[in-house]
Amino acid sequence: MKSRLDKFRKILTEFSIDAMLISSPVNRRYLSGFEGTSGILLISRDEAILVTDFRYLEQAADQAGQFEIRRWQDDLYKSLAPIISETGWGKLGFEGRHVVYSTYQEMIEKLPVELVPVGDAVEKQRMQKSKSEIETMRRGAKVLDRAFEFILSYIKPGLPENELALELEIYLLRQGAEERSFRFIVASGERGAMPHGTASNRIMQEGDLVTIDYGAVFEGYATDMTRTLALGKADQKQREIYELVLEAQQEAARAVKPGIKASDLDAVARDIIDRAGYANYFGHGLGHGIGLETHEQPVLNPRSTTILEPGMTVTVEPGVYIKGWGGVRIEDMACVTAAGGEVLTASSRELAVIN
Ligand code: ZN
Ligand code: ZN
Repeated sequence: MKSRLDKFRKILTEFSIDAMLISSPVNRRYLSGFEGTSGILLISRDEAILVTDFRYLEQAADQAGQFEIRRWQDDLYKSLAPIISETGWGKLGFEGRHVVYSTYQEMIEKLPVELVPVGDAVEKQRMQKSKSEIETMRRGAKVLDRAFEFILSYIKPGLPENELALELEIYLLRQGAEERSFRFIVASGERGAMPHGTASNRIMQEGDLVTIDYGAVFEGYATDMTRTLALGKADQKQREIYELVLEAQQEAARAVKPGIKASDLDAVARDIIDRAGYANYFGHGLGHGIGLETHEQPVLNPRSTTILEPGMTVTVEPGVYIKGWGGVRIEDMACVTAAGGEVLTASSRELAVIN
């Protein structure tokens, strides 16, 4: 936590501000360790203050050891005003991407300081995970692999999609998940053409391909993985498209390394799918950063200029979606290492045909 805070303080110089106000819950947790649902951080070169309400005073003192804890009463921004006056700060940065307009108006009205919008400095810092963050995500990925074994044992023709989603969620909670990362996608048969087809009451049938995209939060960190299965049998077209997506996914996963531009990594998978004639059927980016949030920086798509660096964790998830037919997606989590890349989710990627 101390090194995170020290690193973060560089933005004070970069933006010529005296202090920064952090209000987004994820960034607050990242910089302080405090997991409560209400609170504001004020960080200057010498001070680190966490302002929270009565309910969280004890938890804040326990979790945010680097921070001086202050209590807010009645009105948050009125409570902040005297703290800011005391310090004599002239310019206070705030998270321009997270503060809604009404809050901004309130800040202007109540805070005796010049307000400076700062973009996504904490999000940028969060891209490079520490060893312990990666270790946490590695543990989470292992649970997803065990959950895949559960899926293989549970799924069968005749089962509604949402029954599988429910049992999968219960399984993950029993394995120590804090919550699911997102609404699970269980998209069978023609529904597979919807990249984000969340589980419905459709009964899965023999001959269906089923795309299952799931993940859960472990020790604060999100996980995310997709496999596509066949029920009963798989015809030639299903096998061909599956093998195509698998080749694109594996080539892209192997290309994860420091120094590669995110758009070039996207192109590794996209070129393979384009050459096979399915250019119009892969309509989303290759993947996304993952960490305290399921979707965070860096974004992997044809427009992303981010250069991958060691410590970044991303998903690699190409797909092919054909209206009236269905779809295939395969997704793994990978981490950029000094030597190249490490795929964190290890479940089999061979097409499983469930009888
Ligand atoms: Zn996913
Ligand atoms: Zn994903």
